[in-house]
Amino acid sequence: MKNPTKNNTKIYIIDNLTIEVIYKKMKNIRLSVRYPAGDIRVAVPMRTTESKIRSFVLSKIDWIKKHQDNFKKQPIPSPKIYANNESHDFQGKTYLLNVIEGKITPKIEIKDENYINLYVKPNTSIAKKVLLMQKWYRETMKNEMVKLIEKWEKIIGVKTNEYQIKKMKTKWGTCNIREKRIWLNLELIKRPIECLEMVLVHELVHLLERYHNDRFYGFMDKFLPDWKQTDKILNNLRIQID
Ligand SMILES: [Zn+2]
Repeated sequence: MKNPTKNNTKIYIIDNLTIEVIYKKMKNIRLSVRYPAGDIRVAVPMRTTESKIRSFVLSKIDWIKKHQDNFKKQPIPSPKIYANNESHDFQGKTYLLNVIEGKITPKIEIKDENYINLYVKPNTSIAKKVLLMQKWYRETMKNEMVKLIEKWEKIIGVKTNEYQIKKMKTKWGTCNIREKRIWLNLELIKRPIECLEMVLVHELVHLLERYHNDRFYGFMDKFLPDWKQTDKILNNLRIQID
């Protein structure tokens, strides 16, 4: 059964699973199972036949079901309230929050390798604490990004005109090739530093090759031979690398 929906997208039912198929200018079939609902999406080269898509999906059924089961086990995170001992992630590690109130300039620092100390004035609102944390995340990520961009522009032999840290809901990074402008997702500062580096290298490689084709992945293998392992850390999450 199939119903045409929006342009270049079709829905197939395969082995009782609803599969969203997107036809794209690309060389290889790419399958993703999306968090949190476990929606299945398959991106395929433009002229892929239905029977090829069906046999591809059937060959991956175990993999799909494993991912869907993992998502079911993961609790949906509740919003942070910035209380003492609440867990907050930073550079791939989970820290406990220490809220320290006093007549001081608000600041944040890592303490004893396990704590994030958040210094605030008494009765600071959650909204204000959110802003302080975001500012701290942004500043530390910016510092990392500056170093990594300098390193990788030299290695890859490209030059960006502009790069920014953005809050994005669906993408880890984007590259505007014509403007040579790269945006990275602020969430990356919560993941291991290799993730930030891998997404950055991915976006810089787009300045050499627009499409996710063999040439593109050839560059990735050459510049960051371990990129696939790092990709797996990000892979199960709902945000995509563009
Ligand atoms: Zn990409």
